[in-house]
Amino acid sequence: MGLAPSAEASVTPAFRPPERPCYIEGAWTSPRYGTAGYNLLLQPAGRVYFAGDWLSHEVAWQHGAFVAARSAVSALHQRVMAG
Ligand SMILES: Cc1cc2nc3c(=O)[nH]c(=O)nc-3n(C[C@H](O)[C@H](O)[C@H](O)COP(=O)(O)OP(=O)(O)OC[C@H]3O[C@@H](n4cnc5c(N)ncnc54)[C@H](O)[C@@H]3O)c2cc1C
Repeated sequence: MGLAPSAEASVTPAFRPPERPCYIEGAWTSPRYGTAGYNLLLQPAGRVYFAGDWLSHEVAWQHGAFVAARSAVSALHQRVMAG
């Protein structure tokens, strides 16, 4: 499954070993914060929610991972509570 074209265009890996499959992209990879691709990935794809340091304002830090995880869990919670 690939990303929408707008998301793919905004992903800029800092490091990508040539043997890695293209969708892994390598370490410290993130769509540019605040771009259309970034905002698209903040939205769930059906029942699938995305989270990770790469989907925060602090890529490559645990803080970013916590922020993104909390955001995804909060969105799930709201969805469940809404019925
Ligand atoms: C060498 C190094 C040093 C670092 N030092 C620091 C530091 O000092 N301080 C700091 O704050 N941060 C540091 N970081 C960054 C920190 O480790 C990350 O920001 C944090 O671990 C990201 O958490 P995450 O949950 O977003 O992703 P991850 O911790 O990468 O978790 C993602 C998980 O998903 C799993 N996964 C991937 N694909 C699939 C799949 N298809 N199916 C099922 N599971 C899958 C992976 O195996 C992994 O367990 C460092 C990172 C590295 C590499």
